[in-house]
Amino acid sequence: MFDKILIANRGEIALRVVRAAREMGIKSVAVHSTADSDAMHVRMADEAICIGPPPSGQSYLSFPAILSACEITGAQAIHPGYGFLSENAAFVQAVEDHGLTFIGPTAEHIRVMGDKITAKDTMKALGVPCVPGSDGGVPTVEAARKIASEIGYPVIIKATAGGGGRGMKVAKTEAEIERAFQTARSESKAAFGNDEVYIEKYLTTPRHIEIQVFGDGKGGAVHLGERDCSLQRRHQKVFEEAPGPCITQELRDRIGKVCADAVAKINYAGAGTIEFLFENDEFYFIEMNTRLQVEHPVTEAIFGVDLVREQIRVASGLPMSFTQDDLQIRGHAIEVRINAEKLPNFAPCPGRITQYHAPGGLGVRMDSALYDGYRIPPFYDSLIAKLIVHGADRAEALARLNRALGELIVDGIDTTVPLHHALLGEPDILSGDYNIHWLERWLEQTLQG
Ligand code: ADP
Repeated sequence: MFDKILIANRGEIALRVVRAAREMGIKSVAVHSTADSDAMHVRMADEAICIGPPPSGQSYLSFPAILSACEITGAQAIHPGYGFLSENAAFVQAVEDHGLTFIGPTAEHIRVMGDKITAKDTMKALGVPCVPGSDGGVPTVEAARKIASEIGYPVIIKATAGGGGRGMKVAKTEAEIERAFQTARSESKAAFGNDEVYIEKYLTTPRHIEIQVFGDGKGGAVHLGERDCSLQRRHQKVFEEAPGPCITQELRDRIGKVCADAVAKINYAGAGTIEFLFENDEFYFIEMNTRLQVEHPVTEAIFGVDLVREQIRVASGLPMSFTQDDLQIRGHAIEVRINAEKLPNFAPCPGRITQYHAPGGLGVRMDSALYDGYRIPPFYDSLIAKLIVHGADRAEALARLNRALGELIVDGIDTTVPLHHALLGEPDILSGDYNIHWLERWLEQTLQG
């Protein structure tokens, strides 16, 4: 086992890893930009080291800065959290070249899954069901038009290098295809430096269901059921729950086995998430994330496991601490993402927290890096906290969420808490009857209407 690990991240996820490490008796090193000198992860880790100025390209994304920090502090392994360098194959390679351990899958697995076309081809070959669409990249509008007419409208044009909901455009009819194609390409070029796009059938009422998998890197793997992340704004999740309200045990066992077998076959190591759209009781693969997800705590709650601890164990060469038979679902968990954003437009709202009080009590977990007087810097993601509740069933989890949101105080800035309060008054949310388009429509009708 490692003596010391470095966390190449910030905010709540850096704290999450510090906590797991401490419980395992491992020392943690926080890295930070000059904008984060006062951040909670810096205060909580055993050691902290400044790695550069505020722009993430010169700090949290800088290979030399992070590798030197390992060298200086003697950290043996790097946990990347999510975002930043977590799915950067070149970084993983650099880490290995320096004789350090990356807490996550191999560079090769990240490379394969990071390109959405190779990911889809790989998954298809492993027996995972995919959304109908183009075989590979689509180079011209003419090609796009031809494929779209074969699979039928509506279609969605997506960036091969995509992520974070960017570089995706829907064409409802043939009249829209040219514009959708050009916009997806130029957005993709601007965001990812790669303008390759592909086409999929656009599903009109799907839910977003993702399967948590975990591999030991030696051909062993398990699944930890699903998370329903259908409540999304601009393809970004805002509310996640497990188990999925519409997934039966039979469906879970079936798709879970397909996913666990697929990652076992490729000797995948560590945590991964296989994302699907789910419509009419069918699953359609969209992408695989080769890292810990923001919403991993709902899975931890219902299975009673620590996924970060497990990641560290497997990276250090230990076997997994659970088998598929050990993994039994208990109750229901919901996570809401609390962003420093001002409604109704969700404009980023950094600034100083004048008062902070976290909710507590039975079944409540608050993953955040906030504290009284903390100044949220304007340079990074607007996610400032995740509130996770766990109850015996969905009704209890919802009641607990309502109660916990009522206790939470974050003063001095605007947050998305009022959105979550409002959602809890909606019959569709209470009954679990929503799909990936529900929130956008509701926002149009209410907040922005
Ligand atoms: P990203 O990597 O940018 O998050 P994904 O491929 O995971 O992109 O898709 C993100 C979201 O976009 C999905 O959760 C879903 O809401 C929507 N989406 C993607 N593909 C389709 C599709 N074929 N039909 C309908 N919606 C889609």
